[in-house]
Amino acid sequence: MKLPRVLIVEDESAIAELVAVNLRHNGFAPIWAESGDAAQRELDAVLPDVILLDWMLPGHSGVALARKWRSDPRTKAVPILMLTARSDEPDKVAGLDAGADDYITKPFSAQELLARIRAVLRRRAPEQVTDSVTIGALVLDAATHRVSFNGQQLKMGPTEFKLLHYFMKHSERVHSRAQLLDKVWGDHVFIEERTVDVHVKRLREALSGAGSMIETVRGAGYRLTAQAQAAA
Ligand code: CA
Repeated sequence: MKLPRVLIVEDESAIAELVAVNLRHNGFAPIWAESGDAAQRELDAVLPDVILLDWMLPGHSGVALARKWRSDPRTKAVPILMLTARSDEPDKVAGLDAGADDYITKPFSAQELLARIRAVLRRRAPEQVTDSVTIGALVLDAATHRVSFNGQQLKMGPTEFKLLHYFMKHSERVHSRAQLLDKVWGDHVFIEERTVDVHVKRLREALSGAGSMIETVRGAGYRLTAQAQAAA
């Protein structure tokens, strides 16, 4: 399993080291950048799963960096957790306005920091924290992007994978096309509901023997059920 990468942007080495040690001991891969420029080089090379961004940095303010990364298509989806020594409300609001997902006020406990990191990961990238889902003989591993049925690897496109992941996490429930568009495709309002049917068809084909687990519920939508598998 790939460890979630956490980019620590912090000029104070004592704080950065303490945070890095705690992250390493708790299943994360920390990378330290001591300035905005160093952080930018890291981001250009490999995208992290979370950025821990100090408010006060030499050269750039954390808020300016948050705003810049949020407006860059490459980094805009990476969760940003701001570290701030200031506790007054206007600054927190400025950080959140700039696109930070959350903030944490120094001094903070390691447990609090880990909880906040897990929370932003869960919100922004749920596949990072829930690694695999199993329904009957169907297994989806989100960390490796693999799906298998009866131990046999199945190949599918990225949209079918996301759709299956959503179905498996919410199995036995009926989802309307509009709900699926909202949850799986996100805010792309220009996609027609018929698109869902196209991808469900492709997903069934990709699932082959397990295809019957995706049921059409007339007039309502689709559901993934473990029952059909037993009958098939
Ligand atoms: Ca600082």
